[in-house]
Amino acid sequence: MTPDSGPTESKGQPGIVSAALSGLCPRCGARTLFATPAGLADECASCGLDFLSLERGGRFVGVLTMLLALVLILAALGVDEWLRPPLWASLLFWGPVTVGAVILALRLWKTMWVYHQYEERAE
Ligand SMILES: [Zn+2]
Repeated sequence: MTPDSGPTESKGQPGIVSAALSGLCPRCGARTLFATPAGLADECASCGLDFLSLERGGRFVGVLTMLLALVLILAALGVDEWLRPPLWASLLFWGPVTVGAVILALRLWKTMWVYHQYEERAE
């Protein structure tokens, strides 16, 4: 299906990471899960699955984001102590890294959560 799915089928749980990266609906597999880079759509545009009601428990997401941001800020401060790069270099590097890491973590987290909820509900 995906054009660039190489021979990487040796992972233990291959589905969830690629599902998070592509934003695949747990029911029909369409790329409809995310409306924004880190925000779930209200429902699947393809099969109508209600993502919003599956996302209950989103209050943990804020905690996760803050923890991750804290870790990254501490890492940034540590690098500053070590290398003492100019401020613009720090901002140039850590800005995109922080944003990217937070978005990636949110996508993974929300996808895992929605898939978990979906499987629970299917039983
Ligand atoms: Zn769907």
